[in-house]
Amino acid sequence: MGDGQYSKRLAGKTAVVTGGGRGIGRAIVERFMGEGAAVLSCGRSERPDNFPREAHWIRADVSDTGDVRALGSAVERIFGRLSILVNNAGIQIEKTVLETTDEDWETLMGVNARGVFACSREMIPLMDEGGSIINIGSISGSTADPGLALYNASKAFVHGLTRSIAVDHGPKIRCNAISPGWIMTEMADAAFAVADDPEKAKRDALARHPAGRFGDPSDIAALASWLASDDALFATGQCYTLDGGLTAASPLNPCLF
Ligand code: NDP
Repeated sequence: MGDGQYSKRLAGKTAVVTGGGRGIGRAIVERFMGEGAAVLSCGRSERPDNFPREAHWIRADVSDTGDVRALGSAVERIFGRLSILVNNAGIQIEKTVLETTDEDWETLMGVNARGVFACSREMIPLMDEGGSIINIGSISGSTADPGLALYNASKAFVHGLTRSIAVDHGPKIRCNAISPGWIMTEMADAAFAVADDPEKAKRDALARHPAGRFGDPSDIAALASWLASDDALFATGQCYTLDGGLTAASPLNPCLF
């Protein structure tokens, strides 16, 4: 969708989107820019070659509190103040509790839990009245995907922290989470790839979507844009599921379509 098709409802706002180099984060960067926001993003690598020219980028690992401080300094230097924070960066480790090592804990919780916490702690003081924080949780934070013990738990943490930030920092700042279902990105591809028969796993998963398709990163970006905007001033402390109806179907009726 071209820039001209957006409403510009984020004009004059400044935004940080963590992990905006690809996938859902990239779609949010592009959507926010299309809606008129100035955007700064980060990832563990240098600026991707095809990253939008008008958007700002710094190399920062959200699991490293020193890098998160540098991200805050970049916001002050480039924007002065911040309107929107999207805690999107996240990783997945496919392991049960018994398979999980202390190192796995540090790696996964460092990004998915401490990263969200540290970025929020760094950015809240840079936000004024009307600030909006959007955390990317997961349907795995309220259900349990097999073999994803720490990932599931980390997303439950994200949902809990979302409510706490909303309660402690409202009405000045709103904080909401988005719980995506299957969104077609590198992370989703990697998750299907570990199945015994990835193509069958995909077909079976698709059949459970009342919407008739998997999600696209732009689906999540559209909801993030609404939550970031002044159209959503009454929305705070909530976790918005966006999964094509996947979790709406009764688990007792797996073959609905
Ligand atoms: P991708 O793996 O496609 O992209 C993740 C992005 O995060 C990359 O740009 C990556 O860049 C960045 N990133 C990872 N670790 C860090 C870090 N420590 N510091 C900074 N940036 C980091 O994932 P998705 O786009 O699919 O996922 C985005 C979010 O959505 C995640 O939080 C994920 O858990 C969540 N989600 C995704 C679903 C899906 O089906 N795709 C479903 C539910 C939730 P780099 O590696 O270069 O640092």
